[in-house]
Amino acid sequence: MFDAKLEYYSSLEHKVRWGIINGAQSTDVEGIMMNEKKSLIAANWKMFKTLTEAVSFTESLQREVGPLEDREVVIAPPFTALAAVRNAIWRADFKLAAQNCHWEEKGAFTGEVSGAMLRDVGCDWVILGHSERRHIFGETNETIQKKLAAVFRFGMLPMLCVGELLDERESGNTFAVIGTQLDRALAGLDADRAGQLAIAYEPVWAIGTGKTATPEQAQEVHAFIRERCASLWDKMIANRIRIMYGGSVKPDNVDVLMAQTDIDGMLVGGASLEVESFKRIVQYQPFGETN
Ligand code: PEP
Repeated sequence: MFDAKLEYYSSLEHKVRWGIINGAQSTDVEGIMMNEKKSLIAANWKMFKTLTEAVSFTESLQREVGPLEDREVVIAPPFTALAAVRNAIWRADFKLAAQNCHWEEKGAFTGEVSGAMLRDVGCDWVILGHSERRHIFGETNETIQKKLAAVFRFGMLPMLCVGELLDERESGNTFAVIGTQLDRALAGLDADRAGQLAIAYEPVWAIGTGKTATPEQAQEVHAFIRERCASLWDKMIANRIRIMYGGSVKPDNVDVLMAQTDIDGMLVGGASLEVESFKRIVQYQPFGETN
């Protein structure tokens, strides 16, 4: 019986069903497990916003967005604004993320910030392996793997970014590139922790360019990521992992992206810098519902 349920969660229907029962007072295993999986809508502010701007945004967004039952908002300000944004967060459905971290607890690493420090400031999540870190600052899958282990060690959760360059897509290497990024960054991660992961698929050619992957292109890669996770652990764990999409997400494309079976959240750069646009993204309506 339990095996049959596991098989059910693995089916392509699981997300639609999760949406339908969301909010219901389910007491059976199926309901409890499905209600637990909330989508994640994350704002990656990169190297934008002063303290005052960061706090003012956080306060406005919390005031303007109604209660969120099936989703969580994650704000990733620059390091300098982490403590202030932490203090400004009063809602349980709003979480705090850092944009990077070092894998050591402390030491002679000028310019770096450790997982211990990020936990101390109150971070819940850490974005790791963002394409800007990989391609501008030379981060490798191997250092990302060390950071990922450290994020768990210090009591936070990693949001691991993966994605292919345009020439990698055009030469038919998308799955090979992403498969390698996943295998290397997730090497040695145990099953208990794996289920808590978030993975963001961010095609590099879509970040900050105004070009979005089509819903079909995104879904195809998300399904691949889920299958890869199932082969690294098992199907149930793979289904618990939130797989987010990032790459020029905007108010006018979020609904159709979020309607895809394997898309469990959004990682948003440019459109997360203004309250109005990010608020609309947080209030996505994946099943074509109207207000
Ligand atoms: C990002 O920085 O993670 C991102 C997806 O940026 P943008 O939404 O601007 O493409």
